Amino acid sequence: MAKTKSVYVCRNCGAESPKWIGKCPSCGEWNSYVEEIVSKAPAAKIQLAGLEIAKQKPVRISDLEAKEESRFDTGSNELNRVLGGGMVEGSLALIGGEPGIGKSTLALQAALNIQGKKTLYVSGEESASQLKLRAERLKFDNPDCYIVSETSLEQIFVHIQNLQPGLVIIDSIQTISTETVESSPGSVTQVRECAAAILKFCKTTGTPVFLIGHINKEGSIAGPKVLEHIVDTVLQFEGDQHYMYRILRSIKNRFGSTPELGIFEMRQSGLREVSNPSELLLSQNHEGLSGIAIASTIEGARPFLIEAQALVSSAATVPRSGRAPGSTCAA
Ligand SMILES: [Zn+2]
Repeated sequence: MAKTKSVYVCRNCGAESPKWIGKCPSCGEWNSYVEEIVSKAPAAKIQLAGLEIAKQKPVRISDLEAKEESRFDTGSNELNRVLGGGMVEGSLALIGGEPGIGKSTLALQAALNIQGKKTLYVSGEESASQLKLRAERLKFDNPDCYIVSETSLEQIFVHIQNLQPGLVIIDSIQTISTETVESSPGSVTQVRECAAAILKFCKTTGTPVFLIGHINKEGSIAGPKVLEHIVDTVLQFEGDQHYMYRILRSIKNRFGSTPELGIFEMRQSGLREVSNPSELLLSQNHEGLSGIAIASTIEGARPFLIEAQALVSSAATVPRSGRAPGSTCAA
């Protein structure tokens, strides 16, 4: 019989300790240790369902041919830009963001927009019919987009083997679990093991995968920092739920320059790309107005024009119901 024991794992960085500790010696985070059950059974290998290819042999570096990573169009210029010019074949990208910010919409819209590639959208959060409703709201249709509601990693690999998709989207990594680890879905061990198995799948088959990950209150992705180390690309989807604009930022990119930024507008019918940020940062009509200055700034690798507005009025001797003397500034 498999013996079980428990360890305490840092939710932030994945460091382990046999006892609970208040402050993580590895990342300095307070109160981040949670108990996880680990199996003492010999570590079973996560089966890639026959997807493994023959072991590679070392080759002389001089015999190697340098070739550019092949990329494909995700159907969204802003997403392509943040990825460094399109999604790289065989790469693993993580889209992180707070719950409800629109990560699933972004990913589903990409799945529906990609042309000439069979895409598999795996949802551990929504049923297939909920996803259909969402797709109908987006008003896109793509006969090459397949949807499955699944949380078992082993089952996901079976679906992949049957369907042979050209792109896989997993929503979200925190809901996926593997049978080889006993701890509950979303725990550090599960997230790490599942992500590592998915990375292996990407590299052995050359299939690109998008992972969706929730962000905790402190803004770190999926709790464990380990996830950020495993994947090739980390994209963060930011914005305020009450406002319509969203920013997609790359935090890490093995295949492109990091400081890239994409802007979207959340609409009833999905995300619209904002290719000209001036439309939202500048008031277009300021003829005859004073107190407005345009400045340029740079965010990531992208220049922006921003507008500073100053409202100044002289102190009136007769108090009116109007604005108090002073100034406000909005950019
Ligand atoms: Zn830690």
